[in-house]
Amino acid sequence: MSLWNPTAENMTRRELRALQFDKLKVLVNRVYNESPYYKNKLTAAGVSPEHLKSLEHYQDFPFFDKDEERLSQEESKEALGHPFGMHITCDPKLVNRVSSSSGTTGSPTFSGFTKADRAIAAENTARGLTRIGIEPGDVVLHASVLSMWIAGVPAVDSMMAYGACVVPVGALSGVERVAQIAKETRPRMIRTTVSFARHLAATMQDRAGIDPKSLGIEKVVVTGEPGGSIPEIFGEIEAGFGGATVYDNMGATGCHSPTGISCEAHAGIHFYAEDNAYFEIVDPDTLTPMPIENGVEGEIIFTGLERECGPLLRWRDKDIIRINTDPCECGRPGVRMTFKGRVDDMLLIKGVNVFPNAVRDVVNRHSSKATGNIRMILQKSGPVAEPPIPILVEHVRNLSTAQLTELGNELENAIHHQLRFRAKIEFQSEDHFELKTGTTGKSKLVEVLNS
Ligand SMILES: [Zn+2]
Repeated sequence: MSLWNPTAENMTRRELRALQFDKLKVLVNRVYNESPYYKNKLTAAGVSPEHLKSLEHYQDFPFFDKDEERLSQEESKEALGHPFGMHITCDPKLVNRVSSSSGTTGSPTFSGFTKADRAIAAENTARGLTRIGIEPGDVVLHASVLSMWIAGVPAVDSMMAYGACVVPVGALSGVERVAQIAKETRPRMIRTTVSFARHLAATMQDRAGIDPKSLGIEKVVVTGEPGGSIPEIFGEIEAGFGGATVYDNMGATGCHSPTGISCEAHAGIHFYAEDNAYFEIVDPDTLTPMPIENGVEGEIIFTGLERECGPLLRWRDKDIIRINTDPCECGRPGVRMTFKGRVDDMLLIKGVNVFPNAVRDVVNRHSSKATGNIRMILQKSGPVAEPPIPILVEHVRNLSTAQLTELGNELENAIHHQLRFRAKIEFQSEDHFELKTGTTGKSKLVEVLNS
């Protein structure tokens, strides 16, 4: 199989560490000298460029998180007249594209991209597309949102830079429109969210009179939600599209670019961008760094090594990741990662940590009578919740009361057995849940009654 940038993607760990350290020194010097904000922040934490004598010394540098980013941007709107934050290290006139967070909580945060920042995102996108066998000139249907979110217009921009023939149909135009455009343009690849891919596969024939198997789509790249690495889910999508292969795509918000993609072995996401996206794994409770070793599980921390506009040093991504360093049977290089859940979504039920996406996975694995859409109902916002937890489960049409009772018991047992908490299953008929919420197209897994 071919790689876009064999030199960068095939580096040994030792070569990578040396390169990362060199780039980190340049970055730390730059933010210290060009951003009074960073100078104050690093000084307050007792570090400076001189302190960075090895990669290990970088562990003494302070973290950056979403709340700090939001405050920094509030301040720069007042003080500097732009929303890119006090931690910006470039002339705001060099900002060439702006993306924003999904904005599901609070005001949105903004990321500015200079031409060089866009080039890194494009480089990483090219690595992902090359790995899955998409070539310049191939037709790619972008059936994800066309928003400022990083997987929206910025993804389209990067795929166009690669030279793909991008058809930006969007997702909000609905199943009928996406099906029609796919039929006319004959894409080799479709890029969308897990929920929308499943929705397309399940409803296209009924809604648009077009069999998704007839479209000739070879590759379905899913992003933005866990599920693309869960056998029952990608299996359903692959079957729905007539034997297409599903690839799970990963981006690093702290680096503002895609950083990994899964392979035909479905054995985790190959991280392919360590030369520009430095990552650490820390214990999510103590924030103590953990070794990058096989089986290590913790919160991933990112530093975009070459970022020009608003570099984020030691960004807390809030994703819990499991590391796999074994060689993959596909032969492609790169540490592999499996998403386990979001730090912020983690619930504490009678002393047991529960991720809502893990609940959805159990339901997905358990029965084809459930569509896989669920919603946990909490009395108040987490993390502490009292069992039994009501869970709305969407079921396929035409089930009898007896079948539903049986399914409810099975799911309650499976959840109790696998996730160790008591659930109370309630049912909703198919199409109850809105598949898309907000600007990201992600489905909502938790509803809080009294926030
Ligand atoms: Zn592989």
